[in-house]
Amino acid sequence: MEWLGLLQPSRNLHRAAQDVMALHRGKFPRDALTLKTLPGIGRSTAAAVASLCFGEPIAILDANVKRVLTRYLGFGQDLAVAKNEKLLWEKAQTLLPTQHVTQAMPHYTQGMMDLGATLCTPKNPQCLQCPVKENCKAAKEGKPENYPVKTKKLKRTSEQLWLLYAKTKNGEVWMVQRPQSGIWAGLYCLPVFESYEALQAFVKPKSKLDLQDMPVVKHVLTHKDLYLHPVALHLNNHKSLGQGHWFDQQTIAGIGLPAPIRKLVA
Ligand code: SF4
Repeated sequence: MEWLGLLQPSRNLHRAAQDVMALHRGKFPRDALTLKTLPGIGRSTAAAVASLCFGEPIAILDANVKRVLTRYLGFGQDLAVAKNEKLLWEKAQTLLPTQHVTQAMPHYTQGMMDLGATLCTPKNPQCLQCPVKENCKAAKEGKPENYPVKTKKLKRTSEQLWLLYAKTKNGEVWMVQRPQSGIWAGLYCLPVFESYEALQAFVKPKSKLDLQDMPVVKHVLTHKDLYLHPVALHLNNHKSLGQGHWFDQQTIAGIGLPAPIRKLVA
């Protein structure tokens, strides 16, 4: 039943209306930042409403506009990667009108959307009729259909790792060098284990001291979320823990460490 697809939008509309009444004293927000807080309104929709209705100088980046912009700029970075999309959004912002902004923005935004919907189509773009063809990099290259670049999104995965954070009372930390391949290749790091049991098995023959669980740290990689479980072990002396070294705080400050490890030990 087709109307079922309208249920969520209508619920969002109802909730948005309630929020406007409850949180904005019945006045519909006019800026993208506030519009984005309403149910069902994403970043690009908020920007479209704010620029089209209220002249706010803010870029939209729906699928049509992404296509126009990546072609116009010759932007070949993969838009499946979040930082590349963020960069495109920043570039889009630099192209906005700078004069008579309130009047110009609705025309600019509407023009970008129309260009993407009519001439700058996914296949067979009509470059000869396009008003921006003189400055369009993709048109000059002769292959506008090469843009935008967007590989299939890789499925995000997650991994749990346990870190032994062994520290002496003088502040020295036990570090090992990571293998030359894989995560944090070649960098010094706290000893990494795939399970708490493996960490315990490593420590127990060497120390009778208690292990203390520390708060879990989430570290986001490009296609993976790492959940790091640091486990503290406080020692009185420089007892060797096997392969690795004790590093004092001054040395730690001067060596390359993975970002989440530096946050933890610095
Ligand atoms: S010149 Fe062609 S590729 Fe460039 S924006 Fe216009 S229609 Fe798109």
